[in-house]
Amino acid sequence: MSWDADVTVVGAGAAGLSLADRLTDPDGPAPAPRVVVVEAPAGPHRAPDRTWCYWEAGDGPFDDMLTASWARLRVYGSEGHLVDRTTGPLRYKMLRSQRFTTVMRQRLRARGVEVRRMTVDSALDTAGGAEVRGRDAAGQQSVIRSRWVCDSRPPPYLPAARTTLLQHFRGWFVTTLRPAFDPAVPVLMDFRTPQPARGLSFGYVLPLSPHEALVEYTEFSPSVLSANAYESAVRHYCDEVLRLGELRVLSREQGVIPMTDGRFPRRSGRRVLLIGGAGGATRPSTGYTFAAIQRQTEALAGALRTGLPPDGVPAVHGRRARAMDAVLLRALDTGRVEGGSFFTRLFSSVPTERMLRFLDGATTPWEDIGIGMRTPVLPMLLSLVELPLLPRTVPAAVPGRH
Ligand SMILES: Cc1cc2nc3c(=O)[nH]c(=O)nc-3n(C[C@H](O)[C@H](O)[C@H](O)COP(=O)(O)OP(=O)(O)OC[C@H]3O[C@@H](n4cnc5c(N)ncnc54)[C@H](O)[C@@H]3O)c2cc1C
Repeated sequence: MSWDADVTVVGAGAAGLSLADRLTDPDGPAPAPRVVVVEAPAGPHRAPDRTWCYWEAGDGPFDDMLTASWARLRVYGSEGHLVDRTTGPLRYKMLRSQRFTTVMRQRLRARGVEVRRMTVDSALDTAGGAEVRGRDAAGQQSVIRSRWVCDSRPPPYLPAARTTLLQHFRGWFVTTLRPAFDPAVPVLMDFRTPQPARGLSFGYVLPLSPHEALVEYTEFSPSVLSANAYESAVRHYCDEVLRLGELRVLSREQGVIPMTDGRFPRRSGRRVLLIGGAGGATRPSTGYTFAAIQRQTEALAGALRTGLPPDGVPAVHGRRARAMDAVLLRALDTGRVEGGSFFTRLFSSVPTERMLRFLDGATTPWEDIGIGMRTPVLPMLLSLVELPLLPRTVPAAVPGRH
């Protein structure tokens, strides 16, 4: 069998580009494999532009692409109680996908990696490898055969789960007439928004200057809103909560991120590995995915380059983190804990650096117990006890998910 490549990477989003970069890094652990990246042409399959935030200590590999970074964070309780904390050695970083894509694609081009425009219809095992089948923009069929396929296309259905919530949001990049933002401090969660009947909502502000910011309205709830409802919610947050005054909306971004205690499979075939959000990189309780994608693609590229079985790569979120998330999702979904006071209390009583490490699954068991003691213990215990008794069900397909 002659292979078109050693590895076909399906999707040129955060996971696909990060993996292709690591597979072809000239300083990597072993000779670089031949890589082809396949990306959907402009159209319904292509993921829209987005903004990724993540945190890390000190300098990081994407620092020269960042739009902003901060050493402080704010949280507002529903009654306006303000928590304003430094993040210790960590920095909260904002990266826009357009910049990341441009830099990564230049880098891959310089290394001779082909990025092929094709809508992938299937990625299936063949003898000793796998093949990707799809169509180009003109509808012409093509096939790519390789030893491995790493697929980041969002799956059509979410996994069977006891609890499935959605983190869904719309944001406006705005400029204001008056200086309305403190560029030194983003607002991570602002619970002064009207709360939905089930789940929770909050505002989110990434300030770029006294006059510019990305302002978002977010819900953790069972279903998405209409376009009009998002627009009214962001408008209400800008006008009534932040009181920004006269403003201009420069652009919008919107998203739906599943928050589920279901297990995403890590492969769809012997030689077809699932990566990124499709491969379970999203932290169920927060929706943060970008940093986990970096850990996942680093480990996977290391295994593929050195010939180790990819099955040896540990799951990106450990058992303890997933178990705690399952309890929290259940407690939020049943309304046993009230989201606004839950998160405000945690951010007020736990040092922000520890909270951020906790959200990355990087705290010790003792630290986790300490954090657990600052949550409403009884509702959390009830949710814990109840979980094994609940059936796992497959949720309906989510509209607008990319
Ligand atoms: C608006 C938004 C904001 C987010 N903000 C954050 C954040 O601040 N921090 C964070 O940690 N996480 C965030 N997330 C969650 C997560 O980090 C992102 O969804 C991230 O883009 C996931 O990367 P991915 O590579 O798994 O998927 P994607 O980036 O969606 O990449 C999938 C790729 O597959 C391609 N594709 C899809 N179908 C086909 C097909 N049939 N054929 C060929 N190609 C196909 C798409 O074009 C895309 O390039 C955000 C998500 C959204 C939607």
